[in-house]
Formats: sequence, C-alpha cells, structure tokens
Amino acid sequence: MYRIPVYQPDLSGREREYVLDCIDSTWISSKGRFLGEFEQAFANWTGSPHAAAVSNGTVALHLALLAAGIGPGDEVLVPTLTYVASVNAIRYVGATPVFVDSLADTWQLSSASLLDHVGPRTRAVLAVHLYGGSCDLHALAAVCEQHGLVLIEDCAEAIGTRYQGAHVGTFGLLSTFSFFGNKTITTGEGGMVLSRLADVDERVRHLRGQGLAPDREYWHDVVGYNYRMTNICAAIGAAQLERIDSILEMKRRLADAYRQRLADTPLTFQAQTTGEEPSYWMVTVLTPTAELRDPLRTHLAEAGVETRPIFHPVHTMPMYRSGEEAFPIATDIAARGINLPSWHRLPDDALDTICDHIRKFFSAR
Ligand SMILES: *Cc1c(COP(=O)(O)O)cnc(C)c1O
Repeated sequence: MYRIPVYQPDLSGREREYVLDCIDSTWISSKGRFLGEFEQAFANWTGSPHAAAVSNGTVALHLALLAAGIGPGDEVLVPTLTYVASVNAIRYVGATPVFVDSLADTWQLSSASLLDHVGPRTRAVLAVHLYGGSCDLHALAAVCEQHGLVLIEDCAEAIGTRYQGAHVGTFGLLSTFSFFGNKTITTGEGGMVLSRLADVDERVRHLRGQGLAPDREYWHDVVGYNYRMTNICAAIGAAQLERIDSILEMKRRLADAYRQRLADTPLTFQAQTTGEEPSYWMVTVLTPTAELRDPLRTHLAEAGVETRPIFHPVHTMPMYRSGEEAFPIATDIAARGINLPSWHRLPDDALDTICDHIRKFFSAR
C-alpha cells in the first residue's frame, strides 16, 4: 500500500443516491432508467449521434471491430505503444494486428509509420489517444481516406479530449471509451461505443445483447454476446458525467502544477498535437535516460509514492512477438516513461512530496 496512490476514484457527487435508487427500485440488472440516461448524456456531451453502454472498454473495442465488419484475413494497424486490450480486440475478431511506431514528441501513433505498413489486406486503423492527448486526426483521416481504411478510435484515456474543437471519438466510424476505476470517469467496470451512423449503432446494440432479433421474442439471428452494462454501473456513470467539467478542470490544474514545479528538472513531458485540447488523464514524464527510470520509481516508492511505468510495447509481449520488427521510438518512450499520481483530488501536500522527491533525486546526481 502506497501513501500516495497513482489513481483513486472520486464518488463524491450523486453516485450514492443513484445507486440506492437502483437498489430501492430493484432495477439492478442491465435494464433500468440510468442506462438510457447515461447513454444519452454521454452522446450529448461528446457530440456523437449514438452511444451504446457496455460492460468494459475491452468489449467496447471488440464490438467496434465486429460492427465495422473486421474479421479473419484483415489487417488492422495499431500502435505498439498502447494498452494490451487495443491489440487483443483485433485478435478476438480473427484479424491480424500490424504494429506501427509512435511520434517522439506526442507519443501518439505516427501517420508516417502507418503509411509504411499499409498493404493489400489492411482494412482499418485502430488509433489510440494516449494519456489524455489526441492523435493527429487530420493526418490519420487523410491516410484512411487515401487507402479506403476504416478509422476506429480507442478513447479509453481521452474522455474530455478535443481535437480542432470536436471531441475525440467523433472522427472515426466508431470509437470506444472505458470507465475502469482509474479512468477519468468511472463506473467500476464499464465502457461505451460511439457510432457515427445509425445502422452501425444498431449492429453494436444487436451484438451487445446476444444477437436478439428485433422482431421475434427469444429468437437470435447471429452469434452475439452479453456485453451489457448494468443499471448500477450506469447510475454511477450518470453521476460522474454530471461533474465531468469540474473533474477535467481539476485535472488540468494538476497537470499545470506538475509542469511548473518540475520545469527545471531534466524530465520531459508529453507534447501536444497541434489542435488538441488535452484532458490530462495521466501526467506522464520521461527520464533523460532509460537507466534513470527505475531508480526514480524506486526513490518515489520509498517515499510512499506509487507510480506506473509507461505501457510496454505490445509487440514485445510473448503472444505478439515476431522478432522481425523494431519500433525504435515506442521502445525508447516505454523505457523512459513514468506515470505520476494523477487523480484530480491529489492533495497539495502530496503534490509537494512528489515534486520535492523528484527534485531531490536529480539534485543528488
Ligand atoms: C483502459 C484501456 C482499455 C480497456 O478498458 P477496460 O475497461 O479496462 O477493459 C483499452 N484501451 C486503452 C488504451 C486503455 O487505456
């Protein structure tokens, strides 16, 4: 147990009241008023025409790929620098993940690397908006248009992130969100799929609910899934979403404070994509060399401060390792990156402790 955890849910709004409403009314399963309310509020808030709530962010990705018609024989371009779920979902549908490298400054998917990997079987790009930043959606959309590829956005880490004024997740055919306990808003476990088109949204809902035929009771016309969200989770989500603007404001202030206080250390912060308004999910820094990363994490751990390493590049994990390709930029970022405590109610004295210990670490060297 760390004295200062890297993340912590904040349930200080109407979460309790709404959950008690589920219990008092006995609507605790995957039907109930909060589901429709949460979906509608989420669609309104992001500016998407359709939002379907699901049981987590990983199944959201699975449904998005299925609804986009991706399957065996297809290749999907995906950054190697991401959470493993983005890649696993591609395998779930029987398609082949093709890894691409990242940009050195923003750490987001590189559209130049995308072009290097487009081939005759490429069907889609699964773009991931890392750590609350945004990919260069303008460049990605251009590559997708030029090569006839479907754009799917993994926005698990980017609730509240905008690109050229629009919420990320409204650029692709489909996009996905996660409400795990350490995400910007949480439902415990949960996720959302946004669709730009009504028929795509219908496919998502059909597959989410066991492939139940719309016009015949207990009749199923495709192999579907039970990927539904519960009313209890939606109740928590609805309460979280009511407060999202203030949560994002606190996250922005925390990220600014970290940048100011650590400005004269040799740490590098994530750069912003031109046109992005970040939501600062995780304040993440790179040490100047890979050799300093683990000692800095240990130094902080000894002071009771929990940190995380940046994602390990997925192409190095046993089930995806081919040994043939190198992704030098993603590999370098992953070797030097640290996620700092980023929950928006981090007390000032905890921020002092973290920053003082980081400064001490570097001044002793
Ligand atoms: C958290 C996360 C997911 C998966 O979400 P779960 O709700 O934990 O299944 C997918 N992609 C990225 C990039 C994430 O950070």
